[in-house]
Amino acid sequence: MKETTIAAISTAQGAGGIGIIRISGDKAIEIADKVFVSFTGVKLNELSGYHGAYGKIVFEDEIIDECVAFVFRNPKSFTGEDVVELCCHGGVLVTKLVLRAVLASGATPAGAGEFTKRAFLNGKMNLSEAESIMNLISAQSKNALKAANEVRQGAVSKKIYELCERLENTAAHLSAWADFPEEDIPEVSEDALRNTLYTTEKELSELIKNYDAGKAITQGVPTAILGKPNVGKSTLMNLLSGFDKSIVTDIPGTTRDVVEETVVLGDIILRLSDTAGIRETDNIVEKIGVDKAKEKIDESQLLLVVFDSSIPLDDEDRLIVENIRDTAAIAVINKSDLESKIDIEYIENNFKFVVYISAKQGIGKDELVSAVSKATGTEEFSASAVLLAGERQKAAAEDALNSVKSAIDALEMGFSLDAVTIDLENSLQKLYELVGKNVSEEIVDKVFHNFCVGK
Ligand code: GDP
Repeated sequence: MKETTIAAISTAQGAGGIGIIRISGDKAIEIADKVFVSFTGVKLNELSGYHGAYGKIVFEDEIIDECVAFVFRNPKSFTGEDVVELCCHGGVLVTKLVLRAVLASGATPAGAGEFTKRAFLNGKMNLSEAESIMNLISAQSKNALKAANEVRQGAVSKKIYELCERLENTAAHLSAWADFPEEDIPEVSEDALRNTLYTTEKELSELIKNYDAGKAITQGVPTAILGKPNVGKSTLMNLLSGFDKSIVTDIPGTTRDVVEETVVLGDIILRLSDTAGIRETDNIVEKIGVDKAKEKIDESQLLLVVFDSSIPLDDEDRLIVENIRDTAAIAVINKSDLESKIDIEYIENNFKFVVYISAKQGIGKDELVSAVSKATGTEEFSASAVLLAGERQKAAAEDALNSVKSAIDALEMGFSLDAVTIDLENSLQKLYELVGKNVSEEIVDKVFHNFCVGK
């Protein structure tokens, strides 16, 4: 494939010890030779792959920086093309000037994720491995890093190819039997077919479930603390904040200017939005209205609904409970150090998880941690299990699962085996898509668009 030669600053934009300008494409070495002058006089095009030279970057007769240039020769490079990496000093201006010199010498600015996209297109990695690189870069916890590295090493593809192989064998057998009746191909046993379908259904469901739990662990669970005034929301918030470590983050790019507070509870990160709202306006139902409260409930994946156990329930408590619907919720019965006057039966009828705490005295934290890990499904999370890398993979796995389920329905309802075969093939198509086999250009572009420039 003849493509343009691209270049970008591949290290983070900021002052650092080293800044790397990466050039990839047919003309990478030729272009680098135009801006790089080695101290020994050697030209980069005289070097074999995996070799480097020390020198300076000169552009329009001015020395920009000293630098080490590394040469990687096609196909033994990250992208599979000729690559030169210019390692200069890590200043923002220095790296920009070096990049400018490289672009002026014939390179084109790399698009988002274009290096990794080329690596994928040149067969250096499959799509799920490419996606894992993105996760690797953005990993914020050890578990996230471990999962990303596993995907990179092909754990997801291996698992998916295993599932594919099983479905392929069955689909091939089914079609052969249907298409060549005169060939005396043994009939597909319904038991074997059932076994394939149910096993695949189970394994795909587990992959998806583990992804959701993993996401809660690696990215955090959007959580809201609800409750009428004075039940102890702020006190609980303080308890949680001081619990392990608390990081206050401004998340840019959110539509509203919400400040998120992140608390780490056991293995799970809770992302508490709008905690300023809790502290200042006290009662969201009264002050900002039921609609806003509903919106907040809808935006959350977990609700901590706080009650004051020392007073009877009232309409305000019930109004909140009635609006929770399907969101995972934990009833947090606070002030359990005081005499109980609350209608606990009502609470138990409305919540799957009920925890007694005294936020003020710091009692009941462990129970809360345990309820949170149950309510978010993270209790069963297995860090050593295969973890899908990202929403695109999850969506493909879900589509594949739905097709397997419809194959099961077709089989159980006694439809022709043709119907089952069609569903099996649909499922296979989705699994191929997951690992990037037979994917459309549109999907490939979407994946790499999420990368940053330089990657
Ligand atoms: P919020 O309006 O829901 O944020 O409630 P606050 O956290 O401001 O607490 C209201 C009052 O309840 C304060 O006086 C707290 O000290 C008190 N409080 C909070 N938690 C407890 C608790 O566990 N036990 C007791 N006895 N009092 C508590």
